[in-house]
Amino acid sequence: MHKLLESLPPGARVLDLGARTGSFNTNREDLAVVRLDLEIPANRGAGLYVSADAARMPFRAEAFDAIISNHSLEHFVELEATLREIGRVVKRGGAVYVAVPDASTLTDRIYRWLAKGGGHVNAFRTPQDVVAPVERLTGLPHRATHRLYSSLSFLNRRNRTAPAPRRIALFLNGSERYLAILMWVLRGIDRRLGTRLSVYGWEFHFGGGPIPQRGEAWVNVCVRCGSGFPQAYLRTKNVVRGIAYRCPECGGFNLLTREKKR
Ligand SMILES: [Zn+2]
Repeated sequence: MHKLLESLPPGARVLDLGARTGSFNTNREDLAVVRLDLEIPANRGAGLYVSADAARMPFRAEAFDAIISNHSLEHFVELEATLREIGRVVKRGGAVYVAVPDASTLTDRIYRWLAKGGGHVNAFRTPQDVVAPVERLTGLPHRATHRLYSSLSFLNRRNRTAPAPRRIALFLNGSERYLAILMWVLRGIDRRLGTRLSVYGWEFHFGGGPIPQRGEAWVNVCVRCGSGFPQAYLRTKNVVRGIAYRCPECGGFNLLTREKKR
């Protein structure tokens, strides 16, 4: 997603769809970022916030160079109408980035169990569950799919904006160090047994824009901000101490797992 944002020309318009407080950050000050959600949150970040229904967007056709739907498609009640709207408001040759949870994973089950559903109304169990309707309803070709890994950052007590559900006690009340150890153990089990306990979901690229190449799976995902990093990048940032590292984005405490070559 950051490669896509970097590639856009100055003045390009980007729609953050289902943004909540802002589903991504960018240091590109020459982009016009519009953040759309049903309700505008109190603690919002940079960008123009628009309160509207994604199934009926108040924008003209081909208004945006790129649309980012970062962990939002699973929430839209009117998924088909929303996808048609994406196809309408994105420019010809524009780019659409989608990231969603895989509903069959441990991470999504924990989320839904803790949040009593958590507003996940659309369950995607295979990449094709996303690719087929997006291609059909937006008219944009699918270009790439990558696996995303989990960090259970929604449990992290530093991210809490509302009183926590009681069930979170099982996760030591969302202690960051506990989550770092838990994720490290889950990734270790996956590495040895070929399970997918640390899998989150997928990201998809549709339409135009650059397609980032990934030599290896980015299994190291921050337990505070949810950013994934290649191990080599963390080493260049000089944030690794033994098997621990501090997230270069947010400073969160994490434990490093070695990547397996694909
Ligand atoms: Zn972080």
